Amino acid sequence: MKVPDNRGYFGKFGGKFVPETLFSCLEQLEATYKKVKKDKKFREELAYYLKEYAGRPTSLYFANNLSKLLGIRVYLKREDLLHTGAHKINNALGQILLAKFMGKKRIIAETGAGQHGVAVATVASLFGCSCDVYMGQEDIRRQRMNVFRMKILGAQVIPVKSGSRTLKDACSEAIRDWVTNVRDTYYLIGSTVGPHPYPLIVRDFQTVIGKEARRQILKKEGKLPDYLVACVGGGSNSLGLFYPFFNDKRVKFIGVEAAGFGLEDFNAASLIKGKIGVLHGAKSYVLQDDFGQIKNAHSVAPGLDYPGVGPEHAFYKSISRAQYVAVKDKASIEGFKLLSEVEGIIPALEASHAIYYLKRLAAKAKGATVLVCLSGRGDKDLEIVQEYINKNKD
Ligand SMILES: *Cc1c(COP(=O)(O)O)cnc(C)c1O
Repeated sequence: MKVPDNRGYFGKFGGKFVPETLFSCLEQLEATYKKVKKDKKFREELAYYLKEYAGRPTSLYFANNLSKLLGIRVYLKREDLLHTGAHKINNALGQILLAKFMGKKRIIAETGAGQHGVAVATVASLFGCSCDVYMGQEDIRRQRMNVFRMKILGAQVIPVKSGSRTLKDACSEAIRDWVTNVRDTYYLIGSTVGPHPYPLIVRDFQTVIGKEARRQILKKEGKLPDYLVACVGGGSNSLGLFYPFFNDKRVKFIGVEAAGFGLEDFNAASLIKGKIGVLHGAKSYVLQDDFGQIKNAHSVAPGLDYPGVGPEHAFYKSISRAQYVAVKDKASIEGFKLLSEVEGIIPALEASHAIYYLKRLAAKAKGATVLVCLSGRGDKDLEIVQEYINKNKD
């Protein structure tokens, strides 16, 4: 099974829905990527930084207490142990090396909650590149600490004041910048979204998660797991885990989306509640109103707050290779507390959605072996959780 095809399609999803002027930028990127993928020096350099700088391989930890409590066998893939606290660094390191091979010294990115911006600012600092991060004015206000982190790391954060002043407006600005400055500028996208070849490139760089996990579980259990579970924002930690198991038909994939809060359900669940549309240069499921306008997503987890989802997930859904479920804010807070209390591991709120889902899965799959991607650590979310608990006391 080989997706995407040469035109960047996963079934009927994906593609390159961009202005004419961007086509040559994307083609240049695709050509270079194909070359470096086979380049021994590139691969060795990436492996070096993943190991020595980011801290790979991450452990596959058997969560004994949680397993006993739930009546299933739970393994956690510990991406929370990586430098900067989440899986995003895997992709950021891969793409900064790609930029280096292309001779580009200036990195641009867009960020919503700031986590991708921090990963990009980190690798830009490491490789001596200049770094401009577009961020909606509204997001800047909400995420002051991450803005400060980026600045400390030497990046410039450029406020975007147009539209709803959030992520989708920041995307538009980043694309505008790239078209104008493509000669010396590399556009570093943070998830399996955007026009081809980005969904392919980001997936490839994140498959290190699934490749390691597959080896590790075979060693520990002597067999493959029954389920893989991961949270889905844009889709990169989940695809990174799932893809190396694609041909293992007996291994079931479960993607956990954010259902947000309140009366309007499924607030960030693009695959469950979205309609097919084009966002950020690719065709996939998108949260939109009856007039096709993009809706803002809402989730307590900053990294799941995105109105679209990667086209490869739309494809997995269309062929029923993966099942998608949604977990609400309140339940994710419960997942956050559960893992902290029984295993002494404070998970990121994004991953807490996946942790909570284990409770539901356990009810119907007693005794199953379940491998969960713990995409990040929860230190960044302590304030959000504290505020949530205070607000919902009574
Ligand atoms: C950004 C982020 C996510 C969501 O992004 P994906 O591309 O869907 O993986 C999930 N978990 C953490 C910790 C994140 O920082």
